[in-house]
Amino acid sequence: MNQLTLNDLNLRWIVSKLPALYFVVILMACKTNQVAENTILATETHTIMGDSAMIEALIATEELAIENYQSSAKKDFDILHTDLDLAFDYTNQTVLGTAVLTIKPFFYPQKELILDAQDFELGKIFFSQNGKYESVSYQYDEAKIRIKLPQELTRTDTFQITFDYTAFPERNAGEGSAAITDTKGLYFVDPMDTVPDKPSMIWTQGETAHNSKWFPTIDSPNEKFTQLIKLTVVDSLISIGNGELIRQEDLGDGLRKDYWEMKLPHSPYLAAFAIGDFGKVTAQWEDIPLGYFVEKGYEKGAEKVFKNTPEMMGFFSDLLGVKYPWPKYDQIVVRDFVSGAMENTTASIFMEELRLTEREAIDSEWDYIIAHELFHQWFGDYVTTESWANITLNEGFANYSEFLWSEYKYGADEAKLKLIAETENYFAEAKIKQVDLVRFEYDNAEDLFDSHSYSKGGAILHMLREYLGSEAFYAGLHTYLVEHAFENVEVNDLRIAFEEVSGEDLNWFFNQWFLDKGHPDIYFEVDYSDPSNVLITVSQRQDLSTTPLYQFPLDVSWYEGIVRKSKQFMVTKASQQFGLENKSPVELVLIDEQKNLLAKKSIEMSPDQMREQFKSSIFGIARYEALDSLMAWEATTELESILPAALEDQFWSIRESALSILQSHPEWISDTPELERKVVAMSVNDSKNSVRAGALDVLSTYGPDKHFSSFLKLVNDSSYLVAGSALTGLVTVSEQEVDSSLIEGFATERNFRMVIPVADYYITHSVPGKGNWFINQANSISGEGLYFFLGYFSEYFSRFPAEGEMDAVTFLLEKMEHDSRNYVRLGAFQGLLSFTEKAEVMSRISEAAAQETDPELIMYYQYFLEALKDEN
Ligand SMILES: [Zn+2]
Repeated sequence: MNQLTLNDLNLRWIVSKLPALYFVVILMACKTNQVAENTILATETHTIMGDSAMIEALIATEELAIENYQSSAKKDFDILHTDLDLAFDYTNQTVLGTAVLTIKPFFYPQKELILDAQDFELGKIFFSQNGKYESVSYQYDEAKIRIKLPQELTRTDTFQITFDYTAFPERNAGEGSAAITDTKGLYFVDPMDTVPDKPSMIWTQGETAHNSKWFPTIDSPNEKFTQLIKLTVVDSLISIGNGELIRQEDLGDGLRKDYWEMKLPHSPYLAAFAIGDFGKVTAQWEDIPLGYFVEKGYEKGAEKVFKNTPEMMGFFSDLLGVKYPWPKYDQIVVRDFVSGAMENTTASIFMEELRLTEREAIDSEWDYIIAHELFHQWFGDYVTTESWANITLNEGFANYSEFLWSEYKYGADEAKLKLIAETENYFAEAKIKQVDLVRFEYDNAEDLFDSHSYSKGGAILHMLREYLGSEAFYAGLHTYLVEHAFENVEVNDLRIAFEEVSGEDLNWFFNQWFLDKGHPDIYFEVDYSDPSNVLITVSQRQDLSTTPLYQFPLDVSWYEGIVRKSKQFMVTKASQQFGLENKSPVELVLIDEQKNLLAKKSIEMSPDQMREQFKSSIFGIARYEALDSLMAWEATTELESILPAALEDQFWSIRESALSILQSHPEWISDTPELERKVVAMSVNDSKNSVRAGALDVLSTYGPDKHFSSFLKLVNDSSYLVAGSALTGLVTVSEQEVDSSLIEGFATERNFRMVIPVADYYITHSVPGKGNWFINQANSISGEGLYFFLGYFSEYFSRFPAEGEMDAVTFLLEKMEHDSRNYVRLGAFQGLLSFTEKAEVMSRISEAAAQETDPELIMYYQYFLEALKDEN
């Protein structure tokens, strides 16, 4: 699965123009306070307790640990094959099913079979074995069916359970997690086709245990079966399921039955299908057929968005030495998806953000999520975690595949940038909670889909690769996949595979990283007083009562002229000193120059030393860090001196950062006219569209009137990133009045990068009569763009209420109450804050806030609603 959270909104050129994202900081602050208070409480309890009280407390803790231990599901039975025949009632949003499950006891003799089946209505249940067919009695509590078997059965008995049922996905629909936002298992989108421009479709989302909302099963990841799913659909629609489409049967009356067969076993949560009026793009990798499914009209975009799939499939197959293990691979873009994407076997489903027009797809940045779901086809689908406690065996790998693909396709610098973003995700979460990566105590399995399992898991795999060397690392992965094909695994299986290959005991690595919590908090001191032997002191300062004392390899490097030298030391102590024995004098030592170590690192460096790091390092990520640190320190002298070099850096992200710095210091352009010519040239020639857009943003800030002609030329660029920034430049022009018909010419655009500058123009020029335009745009912009647009939307209607203020409020309330995406609900809430002077609006906001189930949003809402109350 792949999350899309507010932190992921990667709209770097828009963010700088909007105030909205300060939310993250406030939220983190709230949560940090909570943690701090708990810590104080715990200490106080500790000091006032006597000996016997302490023993009692200890016993209670130990007993609770046993009680709360979430073991892998006990296997009483094994489902060998699942046969489903499904039809759909769109009016009532129900599934009409017939299930035939082929089952055997797993090891011990059994008298009662328990199946997961949530919110079903059931008739008779039949048991059959050796040609005998009989009705059996059962009990049902809306979640589990307890079936009394005719006699005690042993593991040599194979039998079938058959019954008809109606499944009600809408019943008891509830909150999900950071990774998914609902638990219906099966979703009808606009089932009666009442929403304009919204196609009807059905799709499913099984992880974690939600597929038992639409078929009876043993809904845990350590179950695996083959399957045949028959889907009755309207003849004009298409269906996509797991495995192969082996048959299509004409049922008459405009209906058709599609037979989707999985000959290879997989886990229940990976069963899936989608039904809709999709367009299909076909492609191929070796003998594997590929399909990209998207709403009709977006096929050309899908062709571009998913174009790297065959190359990825080849890359991953080669890397792992295990060819893509399934007979086909389909990728389906749906509406209202409850997650970023889901790796259903051979049929990954993606959120609508991947539905792009051909022009939008020029700047598609979705490779990472495509790689993530594809890698899951090995790590997750082929070899599957045996329990949610071990979910990092699925998600850590999928997360790391984003790095691997990036490294292969776009180079080491870009991959490292990705890794840094992931570690920052983890560190942000670590401020709120620090838990074992593989953890057996949790309230809700959905809670495990967090930045520990994803980002930290990926970063740990990277450290393991660095430690073992790439060759041993990939050989270990090969062994792990081959030895556990179509099976379930726990973290020890991974360790053993690496030990088999490398010949080395790796308990120390797995214990500290996978089975414990926290991360190293390291202080470095570098003593240059003996120029021929620089001394490095390493101190680990993490709290050892909760966090391990780590052992880890430490890379130290320095430059003699342009020659890079490096040494690796093994840190095994709380405080340790290493001599570099460098002989030739060294002026600057770089620690972990390539940013491989997952740790909080503190080292004193002067701005001048940071500038030296920028100038000398051959690694883009180290130069990026230097620029970023100088910017954070506001070291303007040093920054200005390296800016010309940064604008020409071979790593695009440094050029992009340099432009962003220049945008905050337009006065530097006046100092150096050459800089201005450079930026103009970058806006036209840079190989990266985001850099070209950044250059235009600098020109808008520095001299919009002077660069009017640049904007005019580039506003029709094929890239929306570039055209959007050019249009922003045009609406910023002040000396000469921009012809309003020029701006109006872009008012029919549907891409938010163009829509937002037009909205800005309407607001700043007080253009009347645009209420309908704002409402129509808000109805058609999808995904993250809508979040940003809602800010302008609210501003227009709050400034010009006569243009339809109440329609705007109604629209925002509807989004806040019903949108499936938390960031859209947040955007609607933020917009509504412009209208709180009206008491009835205020009470509607409070009502909507009270219904919210997302814990982060609840905190955010409370914070602002309390503040508003205090004001009044
Ligand atoms: Zn995933």
